[in-house]
Amino acid sequence: MPEKRDYYEVLDLSKDATEADIKKSFRKKAMQYHPDRNPDDPEAANKFKEASEAYEILTDPEKRSAYDRFGFSGVESRFSNVNAGDFSSVMDIFNSIFGDDLSSMFGGRRARRPTGPQKGSDLLMNYGISFEDAIYGATKIIDVPIKKPCLDCKGIGSEKGEPPETCPECKGAGIVMVSQRTAFGVFSTQQACRRCRGNGEIITSPCKICRGTGDSGENERIKLVIPPGVDSGFRLRVRGKGERGRLSGPKGDLYFRLIVDSHSFYKRQGDNIIVELSIPYPIAVLGGDMVVPTPYGPEKVKIPKKTKEGNVLRLSRKGIQRKTQYGMNYGDFLIIVHYAIPSKISETEKELLTQLKDVMPLPKKQEKQFQKLIEDSKKNKVNY
Ligand SMILES: [Zn+2]
Ligand SMILES: [Zn+2]
Repeated sequence: MPEKRDYYEVLDLSKDATEADIKKSFRKKAMQYHPDRNPDDPEAANKFKEASEAYEILTDPEKRSAYDRFGFSGVESRFSNVNAGDFSSVMDIFNSIFGDDLSSMFGGRRARRPTGPQKGSDLLMNYGISFEDAIYGATKIIDVPIKKPCLDCKGIGSEKGEPPETCPECKGAGIVMVSQRTAFGVFSTQQACRRCRGNGEIITSPCKICRGTGDSGENERIKLVIPPGVDSGFRLRVRGKGERGRLSGPKGDLYFRLIVDSHSFYKRQGDNIIVELSIPYPIAVLGGDMVVPTPYGPEKVKIPKKTKEGNVLRLSRKGIQRKTQYGMNYGDFLIIVHYAIPSKISETEKELLTQLKDVMPLPKKQEKQFQKLIEDSKKNKVNY
């Protein structure tokens, strides 16, 4: 590599250049030497990198003053370990400086695909389970609409499962540069490679069993083990059942996102279970014991006397039971108490309620208030 040139010289600037000058000049150089306009031109690539580096240093006030005083030894740039031909780092900087506004002039963000093996994409499927399965855990065998790989080629699609060849047209990149001559000059745009349809690899002798599709035609059957205590949104991973990788890269993973059905009695809030309990009025006043179902067995609940409408009773650690990396986790079981007004009553109940009605006064506080208000309204009564 030639000796490093002075940053100001690189951008044709004087020492007192403003930030606007620097940006303007860099834009000009970047357009001139942009790798999309100068494919396979190492000289332009170096110039582009040089300009990017100068820009990075000179637009950083601290780095600029260090550079002014001590020269190159005063600044340590992130370019120092970058090879001239390594565009990915330079392009990252380029995009971070101009965002999409300038890079879009070159046909969008430059696709940088690694040329080596690449893992396939992950897939996500929603899977509904019952409230009970979420509480207790379950094992499910699921027919998923994903094809089993062909046995003959192991899903690769080539004869006897030979690894595909790197596309000679795009050399594995999946994209090619196409130059167009226009009134404004030559413009280069990138297009998906036609030979490999953007895959970067081609199969010259396809598998005879699956005709190159790599699929067996049969759906995958997957065994899903749902751990106890899961909630909606929980994801289960099945390794290697996602999309096929590139260039013999491994397959992606398949995720099942669980959607838990609601329950008619138990409502879930995190690890707590909340229920609404209706109790007869006498139990609310006098207190009493009741047996309440929980997913982990019936629980005897002591209802304290003078329990008010809407009071919440808490059964500690009787909620969701779930294994975590720190051990078992227990939520609480919360009971919201309501008074029940019976819609039908027996003769005995009617008799007792009638007796009660006769002896039971209005609530004391209200009765006092009523006495005063009734007296007042008598006095103020207007006769028309
Ligand atoms: Zn290609
Ligand atoms: Zn096959």
